[in-house]
Amino acid sequence: MSKIKVLSKETAELIAAGEVIERPLSVAKELIENAVDSGAHKITVEITGGGISYLRVTDDGCGIPFEEVPTSFMRHATSKIETGADLSNIITLGFRGEALASICAVSKVELFTKETGSDFGAHYTVTGGEEGALERVGCPVGTSIIVRDLFYNIPARLKFLKKDVSEGNAVAGIVRKIALSHPEISFSFIRDNNHDFQTSGDGDLYACIYAVLGRQFAASLTKVDYVLGSIEVSGFISKPLFARANRSFQNFFINGRYIRSFICQNALEEAYKNNIMTGKFPACVLHITLPPSIMDVNAHPVKLDVKFSDEKLIFDSIYFAVKNAILLGNNETDIEIKAPTIDNSTKFDYKSDYKYIIPKIHEDFVEKQTIITQTAFEIPVSEPQIQIVNNPEIKLLGEAFATYIICEYETDLYMIDKHAAHERILFEGLRSKAEPLKCQYTLTETAVTVTDDEMAAITEFSDELSKIGYDFAITGGIITITGIPSILDDSDISDTFTEIVDNLREHKNNPLPEIIDNLYHTIACKAAIKGNRETGREELYSLALRVLFDDSIRYCPHGRPCLFKISQRELERNFKRIV
Ligand code: ADP
Ligand code: MG
Repeated sequence: MSKIKVLSKETAELIAAGEVIERPLSVAKELIENAVDSGAHKITVEITGGGISYLRVTDDGCGIPFEEVPTSFMRHATSKIETGADLSNIITLGFRGEALASICAVSKVELFTKETGSDFGAHYTVTGGEEGALERVGCPVGTSIIVRDLFYNIPARLKFLKKDVSEGNAVAGIVRKIALSHPEISFSFIRDNNHDFQTSGDGDLYACIYAVLGRQFAASLTKVDYVLGSIEVSGFISKPLFARANRSFQNFFINGRYIRSFICQNALEEAYKNNIMTGKFPACVLHITLPPSIMDVNAHPVKLDVKFSDEKLIFDSIYFAVKNAILLGNNETDIEIKAPTIDNSTKFDYKSDYKYIIPKIHEDFVEKQTIITQTAFEIPVSEPQIQIVNNPEIKLLGEAFATYIICEYETDLYMIDKHAAHERILFEGLRSKAEPLKCQYTLTETAVTVTDDEMAAITEFSDELSKIGYDFAITGGIITITGIPSILDDSDISDTFTEIVDNLREHKNNPLPEIIDNLYHTIACKAAIKGNRETGREELYSLALRVLFDDSIRYCPHGRPCLFKISQRELERNFKRIV
């Protein structure tokens, strides 16, 4: 082995810098976090060439005092903490005092800054860690830092960067996240001389989401507002119908900082269980406020993962916040009917001109909330929540396509998918009963041949199968069914049983409550009235009554909607009776 040598200051600096600065995204993140910490009201981020050739962050914050400018570029220079004790109560974003030193070790940095109350500002440059002159200049209060030619002195790093577009997208991503974490700051993002987005900075989170993530996304949300002990959870979640194909729209912020946390993600998704289509993910912009001592953000300088001292408390607060919002949100989906444009050359296409619009978030719905009380570790089983309504004037108009109930109530017209609604009602009923389901013995026995895998699942879950009402005997590879859940009729006995067993085999490693939910799904689906078959008026009426007045019946257990509504006004507008 060669002799031990002490690395030169430059080499040591480059190695240290590599830990903090990996790509333009990390530069943007550090500089924006500094700008936020400076008390800025307005922050502008500009990039060209994906942020590799040029990245500038400008703020109108407190500025850096002239004589402190060179110090701020030194490693472990920070104005944010002084002692180790400060670490447990940290509320600012940065405090390691490494960012500026790291950035200027691997790029060409130019800084303009002026402290509030000062007559003149400072101009300073550092190129690859080499300091230039510190000069007096005239500039506005605040700080503007320009970072050029990232990794110009480390070709190996430069080689690992992705294409400009991808690096630029990553920068855009972090600017969006930070903008969402601070609706009280006005953020502008300029990419290759084009305005990408701008937030108003008026403190309204909804307006901020609208500006950052777009109108459509904003319109799919429902409000969250919840307090559990010392933890506050507020913001917005997507309505179950607007679930996404992946998790990229899940945004969690703790004390104003964007974070990644498996606990938070898990609590969110758990709360959506049985309300969302399988394979889809909820979206959210959730702000969690908690005493800083509960978490440790400084686990790693660049990683966004956080650790909590009380994970259960965090889980519960998010779980209950989201669960309440889903239950109490305005979950009927409005339909917009577009009048056909009168043009004889083209036919009106009812399918494509008929689309969902998303209801607005009603300011007043917070008042309607009744809060689910917190239970211990168990995830609560939701009780059916029928409100007792005196003689509601529901007018049953009929049934379309032997599938959709059409009824009128007050000033709205409702369409209800009778199968989806009935399935959900049965599912809620099954879940709310603690005792085993009743078994009805069949007149004839049904023999079902199963595979070895299926047989293993049947043996493993034989208790659960009897609890849901099955009575059967095993002989060799054959199951002889003599009793079935009493809510099922005796058609398709073998198909239903095979489906249940197939499900058990596939999900056998899931937690037991999930497996049981799955069994309930299948039974509810089989027992529910079917589409494409006429149903009696009384039954249609009682379904409509239940659906309209029970907020828990909004989605079938697979996440399909149970009802749509169109207001009378909307109809009148479309028929041009009103304008
Ligand atoms: P840290 O943020 O961890 O303290 P940095 O290297 O990011 O370390 O910044 C060093 C110091 O420079 C900060 O503590 C702060 O005093 C000052 N500083 C950096 N950026 C700004 C800014 N945009 N406005 C005001 N002061 C700043
Ligand atoms: Mg910093």
